[in-house]
Amino acid sequence: MSTNTTSHSTMSSQTIVIKQADFIESIADSLQYISYYHPKDFVDAMNKAYEREESAAAKDAIAQILINSRMSAEGKRPLCQDTGIVTSFVKIGMSVQWDKTDMTVQEMVDEGVRRAYSNPDNPLRASIVSDPAGARKNTKDNTPSVVHIDMVAGNQVEVMIAAKGGGSENKSKMAMLNPSDDIAAWVEKTLPTMGAGWCPPGMLGIGIGGTAEKAAVMAKESLMDPVDIHELMERGAVTTEEKLRLDIFERANNLGIGAQGLGGLTTVLDVKIKSSPTHAASKPVVMIPNCAATRHVHFHLDGTGPVDLVPPSLSDWPEITREAGQNTHRVNLDTVTQAEIETWNSGDTLLLNGKMLTGRDAAHKRIQLLLDSGEGLPEGVDFTGKFIYYVGPVDPVGDEVVGPAGPTTATRMDKFTDMMLDQTGLMGMIGKSERGPETVASIKKHKAVYLMAVGGAAYLVSKAIKKSRVVAFEDLGMEAIYEFDVQDMPVTVAVDTHGVNAHETGPAIWKINIANAKQHNKP
Ligand code: SF4
Repeated sequence: MSTNTTSHSTMSSQTIVIKQADFIESIADSLQYISYYHPKDFVDAMNKAYEREESAAAKDAIAQILINSRMSAEGKRPLCQDTGIVTSFVKIGMSVQWDKTDMTVQEMVDEGVRRAYSNPDNPLRASIVSDPAGARKNTKDNTPSVVHIDMVAGNQVEVMIAAKGGGSENKSKMAMLNPSDDIAAWVEKTLPTMGAGWCPPGMLGIGIGGTAEKAAVMAKESLMDPVDIHELMERGAVTTEEKLRLDIFERANNLGIGAQGLGGLTTVLDVKIKSSPTHAASKPVVMIPNCAATRHVHFHLDGTGPVDLVPPSLSDWPEITREAGQNTHRVNLDTVTQAEIETWNSGDTLLLNGKMLTGRDAAHKRIQLLLDSGEGLPEGVDFTGKFIYYVGPVDPVGDEVVGPAGPTTATRMDKFTDMMLDQTGLMGMIGKSERGPETVASIKKHKAVYLMAVGGAAYLVSKAIKKSRVVAFEDLGMEAIYEFDVQDMPVTVAVDTHGVNAHETGPAIWKINIANAKQHNKP
């Protein structure tokens, strides 16, 4: 019998045989499972954050994340268009034998990844590129994955497996601190430098000690634990790690960064720490954030078959509806004028209708090459008076127009933005996370706008897309330029035509609000 419990491996030395086929099937099934089911503890923590949130923009962002989560569970389609890089921790009991030994553990995991990502009922986006320092060619099946193998006591195989989003992985930080340095102070100083590209609210995994690489692996493994900080608060911290978790949790949330970096009460849902003895001269620390699309599952194989992951009940998800607030404007992208966009203020909510073009890293790079060479844009691509959506959608299935299609990190497109605004007549951009100061200045200079969709609400966003067609660069796959026809696609004005930046003003206001509230509550 196989289980999905979190108990530790048995110490029994009785040899058991694990079938290669069962292991591969379990990997494939678990990756499909986590592509559309958030862990229940994560949904509960997100719902708690929703209930206590006072910032309207952050509350709406969390509502979208929760609605998206429920829709994904119902529709069995990915939570996010970035279906992640697969990372697993495989702990193999010393008494385990395999029925076949013609594949390594890495090869078996990769075969499971391959099957999961090409499942015709729910194809997942292949995001892995080989030759990372050179050609960066998509391997097409999301392999290879990252596998950490441990030989442990017992006669089971224990697997913790995650699909980690690139946006959050990119914000990982490492420091070799001095032994006397304060780790919580380092996190407090570092977190604001990570921007919103990691799609908060989420979790922080922190590895302390060992060596540089050991700290990184511990940070990642710590994120496999369930959200339980509120239980820790209730029972009180005893160990050094527990005290540090509470200290960092409070300091991180006092920063006021909030959901999607728009300013608010909750930036992190939990802080996880793993530590290991280290050299007397060293204090390695690695911090890895986990995003709104936190996806992981934990199971054991005991030789009686593949894992049987029980689907959660839909009653595990809160019933949340979004209401159009005071500053919500319905916009027709086919007729929108310069005068109209100049009436939008940073922080306003818009419901977009009509046609937009898409494009992300590779399309921008190619546009720049074409413009620099004097060749000009391909036929049918005209950005004049248009909006570009930074997205790389999942392939559709059945009668879907497009698969999950949430925004990608806009900051990566900063280096192309002045060129796009200057040379193509582009009116605005839609993405996630903050823009850099030079880009904000360029947006202001061109009287353009930057709109933010909620990272991690990809399935919800895809339902607003009523038509989709490729207009150029078809060879780029998910990075091609599409034309989307949308209906009531929700976005927030992040940078308005005056250059007012919600990612700066929001957190600044909420940092003060939180400090004032704490001051007020002091005895
Ligand atoms: S929620 Fe954000 S960081 Fe996470 S996978 Fe999706 S886009 Fe990437």
